[in-house]
Amino acid sequence: MKPSAVSADNLPQAPYYLPQGREVELFRHAHHNQLPVLLKGPTGCGKTRFIEHMAAVLDRPLYTVACHDDLSASDLVGRHLIGDGATYWSDGPLTRAVREGGICYLDEVVEARKDTTVVLHPLSDDRRMLPIERTGETLQAPPEFMLVVSYNPGYQNLLKGMKTSTRQRFVGLRFDFPDPERERAIVAAESGLDDERVGPLVELARDLRNLKDHDLEEAPSTRLVVHAAVLVRDGFRPAEAARSALVEPLTDDEETAMALMEVVDAVL
Ligand code: ADP
Repeated sequence: MKPSAVSADNLPQAPYYLPQGREVELFRHAHHNQLPVLLKGPTGCGKTRFIEHMAAVLDRPLYTVACHDDLSASDLVGRHLIGDGATYWSDGPLTRAVREGGICYLDEVVEARKDTTVVLHPLSDDRRMLPIERTGETLQAPPEFMLVVSYNPGYQNLLKGMKTSTRQRFVGLRFDFPDPERERAIVAAESGLDDERVGPLVELARDLRNLKDHDLEEAPSTRLVVHAAVLVRDGFRPAEAARSALVEPLTDDEETAMALMEVVDAVL
């Protein structure tokens, strides 16, 4: 197990997750009361890790689907496939999660095609039903089943947003970048780099985040700070690591990259 500022929920077999607030308790209660959950927040701030952690803590199988603009209801529910000269039905990840009483996590759900709402609605209200049109079957979700969706409100979703009729079915948890102390603990635990050398990288990420509104579409996430720390741990100079792990992934524009490197050189 990675060294960490552990909470009581950090079981040996659960992926490491450092809570930011009361999200662990809220999630437990949502699961217990059969309420679906909506996670919102920028990319790389721990949403996926949180779900992986909670699935392990609650001892439920986890089905994660990265949604994209071509993802349809049948990608979630299942389809008939052809093999050995015959057709057979193959459950999609949502159907499997319902059958097994697992957790289905739809990452960036607003990207998915609109026809997915038709299957998500009856599952996310108190009917908790999954009608499988193609086979004529209707599944009643067991109490352990949970639907979790996430989206990033800041990212190109101004127009897409989530329909109020959909979002009003969910308990919402807001995620953001952790405060400096927590981010240091996370980056140290994830990378194995000592706290002394993690500190300046976290400080740099915070300075770069302050530039977000001016030059950058996306703020540097905790994930990127972890990557920079891994490179420093492996012997790269901090500025070199910061360029590859923090600056280049954030911008293609050379002038912006140069401006960001000035911040890097001032901090590291
Ligand atoms: P998201 O799903 O929000 O895009 P992830 O859950 O994939 O982000 O987080 C990216 C990485 O950041 C994780 O792999 C982990 O290394 C680290 N991380 C971020 N927040 C936390 C946290 N609270 N506890 C543990 N690790 C975290």
